[in-house]
Amino acid sequence: MSFFRVMKLKLALQRSGRLASGSTELLHKCGIRFSNGMGKLRTEAVDFPLEIFFLRDDDIPDYVADGVADVGIVGENVLAEAPKPIDAIEKLGFGRCRLSIAVPRAAEYSGVSDFEGKRVATSYPNVLGRYFASSGVAADIHEISGSVEIAPSIGLADAVCDLVSSGSTLFSNGLREVETVMESEAVLIARRALDAEREAILDKLVFRIRSVSAASSNRYILLNAPEGKVNEIIAILPGMKSPTVVQLAEPGWVSVHSVIAEQDFWEVVDNLKMAGAEGILVLSIDQMIR
Ligand code: ATP
Ligand code: MG
Repeated sequence: MSFFRVMKLKLALQRSGRLASGSTELLHKCGIRFSNGMGKLRTEAVDFPLEIFFLRDDDIPDYVADGVADVGIVGENVLAEAPKPIDAIEKLGFGRCRLSIAVPRAAEYSGVSDFEGKRVATSYPNVLGRYFASSGVAADIHEISGSVEIAPSIGLADAVCDLVSSGSTLFSNGLREVETVMESEAVLIARRALDAEREAILDKLVFRIRSVSAASSNRYILLNAPEGKVNEIIAILPGMKSPTVVQLAEPGWVSVHSVIAEQDFWEVVDNLKMAGAEGILVLSIDQMIR
């Protein structure tokens, strides 16, 4: 038995909901395993000094600000609505959505000034209030805590302002999106003034998260090319440093390996084919350590 308890970083995650699976998946990709079965509220990671709490997402910023948790994962929209003395330290690339204003599909709409004197139902009165104030529009913001999208059809409001990802919920409630108030994604938040030991664990965690997100936005590409075309092909491939060129068994041919950004992928592949590349293989990357 040890006399010393291992210092752990306390991480708050959404217990269930739209951020829950993305958060768990991210940690798993970071090599951090834990079990959260049986509706557990607290668990410990197996191979990383992390103690994990499962909470309602709206409560996470408060727990972090109060020091009950050291770090947490929430949507940027939650922080924008209720700012806390905490830091958003890393965007996480999932839980993407936007806070949008929508009007009944048949309603005419010419611009944000149409909301002057109109009732808009939302769970985001602060963000929406700032948006209208910056647009110089005096609207009547009606705060409701859920099922915002039915407000117009029951005569509670003229428009709504709610989170949207695909837009299908708005559509099925006869609404049409007309303005984007803010864009949001999941972020890692942290308590200020962490002690050195916890700060070191957090640095390790952030390092792993960055490696995972760099990996998911890049692809590993391998191709065969005639030796004479190598310079032209290398010019198309930026790579982390410079591409690897390996001699093939067949004389006059080489294999070229590199890393390309996912967003440039199809364009790069088209250019490579035109430059004479053959047998192009594209692989996903698990981790990318820069
Ligand atoms: P909890 O029970 O934890 O309070 P909740 O019902 O408040 O959960 P969810 O609907 O699970 O919250 O949404 C959590 C977060 O997921 C949102 O704050 C937002 O950042 C993000 N999100 C992504 N897409 C959407 C979407 N289409 N609608 C709502 N939230 C979304
Ligand atoms: Mg919530």
